[in-house]
Amino acid sequence: MVLDRLRRANTGRDPKKIPDGLWVKCPSCAKTVFKRLVEERLDTCPECNHHFRMSARKRIAALIDDGTWQEWDADMSSADPLGFVDGKGYPERIAQQQAKTGLKDAVICGGGKLAGHSIGLGVSAFDFNGGSMGSVVGEKLTRLVERCTAARMPVIIVSASGGARMQEGLISLMQMAKTSAALARHAEKRQLFISVLTDPTMAGVMASYASLGDVIVAEPKAMIGFTGARVIQETIKQELPEGFQTSEFLHKYGQIDLIATRQEMKAELARIVSYLHHA
Ligand SMILES: [Zn+2]
Repeated sequence: MVLDRLRRANTGRDPKKIPDGLWVKCPSCAKTVFKRLVEERLDTCPECNHHFRMSARKRIAALIDDGTWQEWDADMSSADPLGFVDGKGYPERIAQQQAKTGLKDAVICGGGKLAGHSIGLGVSAFDFNGGSMGSVVGEKLTRLVERCTAARMPVIIVSASGGARMQEGLISLMQMAKTSAALARHAEKRQLFISVLTDPTMAGVMASYASLGDVIVAEPKAMIGFTGARVIQETIKQELPEGFQTSEFLHKYGQIDLIATRQEMKAELARIVSYLHHA
């Protein structure tokens, strides 16, 4: 992430996003590849299968059967409970993010069919303020889970988030408890929750609903963790193992059940749902 920030500062671009133009330089294998090929492969590199960040809308289209998607709570938008100003006011910041992304906030929720199975799906929009979880993200995800509990339907949440949204302070942190409580009630009714972790899933999101899946699936080489490596190192005063905040490391030590590439994801999720869901 630090490297990303440096690159972004130098070029004004997010290196993990596909830049405009016909050609893209892959940040992983450094090869120059045809952008249209990358897009046709669900935003992955044709040379090394590096997973670029994917928009929430495209993710939904990749997972949900054609013509079955119904979006829920699409118009929910954030208030400014703290009158927060950091350079600019929070309402202004929100309006800017809305204009940029065409979304009201950083998650899209709804229902549809995944390979024929009825499911509820929430997908982080990393484009919107780093996918951060404020009151709207927390409320939409909670409603998603509650609907699924009532309908005895599996819920799948695909995360890509830097964590809680600082402009909503404590109200943002409360969403950790609220989403977790809804998932606990979902589990009491013996209903399935699959958490899908993508690059990056960090901080308050990883420390709440994202780590509570009955099954936790991750994309390859995603950055997953609570806080930055340097902060941890300075706190516990120990050398940290190489790559300890990656999907592969967490999978090796049992915190993630399965790593699935984007090409495999829909079939893997369908397989898990057909094994574990009993309506
Ligand atoms: Zn590549």
